[in-house]
Amino acid sequence: MQLLKEMINSYGEVCEGNVLKVGNFFNQQIDITLMSEMGKEFKKRFDNCGVTKVLTIEASGIAFACMTAQYFNVPMVFAKKSASLNSDDDAYTADITSFTRGRKYTITLPKAYLGPEDTVLIVDDFLATGSALFGLIDIVNASGAKIAGIGIGIEKAFQDGGKKVRAMGIRVESLAKIKSMTPGVGVEFCD
Ligand code: 5GP
Repeated sequence: MQLLKEMINSYGEVCEGNVLKVGNFFNQQIDITLMSEMGKEFKKRFDNCGVTKVLTIEASGIAFACMTAQYFNVPMVFAKKSASLNSDDDAYTADITSFTRGRKYTITLPKAYLGPEDTVLIVDDFLATGSALFGLIDIVNASGAKIAGIGIGIEKAFQDGGKKVRAMGIRVESLAKIKSMTPGVGVEFCD
């Protein structure tokens, strides 16, 4: 997706440790036009897949997950990374390791929000090692719902998450695929 690649080139910062900082349009300050275009693109790519819910994980995926859900006219649901006082005891859970924070989380989603009648489009901001996606896939499988596919904003194709998830037979669509990135130089896209 051209707009996303242009914004990565203009505002992204490649840091040590294979981390791309995109805080000023993607992760913290959010460019709503970009989010909307991403939602439109996912609607185009997964149209006619029978999507009934868009699922993501807090926090960075939520903005474009909302836009995507709006184009599909279905609810957006997100897994939480920590339990809170109003957490539902009757929840699906999965363990993930955060790539950027280097710590483990148990993610949760109330069982009431996903069931066998659903066909789910999973979306997330980044795909690196695939840990976040494996957690979300586990939750969908536990619910009995079907997976229509996975929509990713930025896939770091030099890490192995994409290969592993596609090897499970799940369709993964990434709007910007990074072949390599070098601090002080920038990013090179796959196509
Ligand atoms: P994975 O679970 O695939 O290893 O990593 C995906 C998650 O880690 C995403 O939800 C995202 O929040 C975070 N992440 C992974 N790589 C990057 C990166 O290079 N930059 C940023 N900003 N977040 C990343």
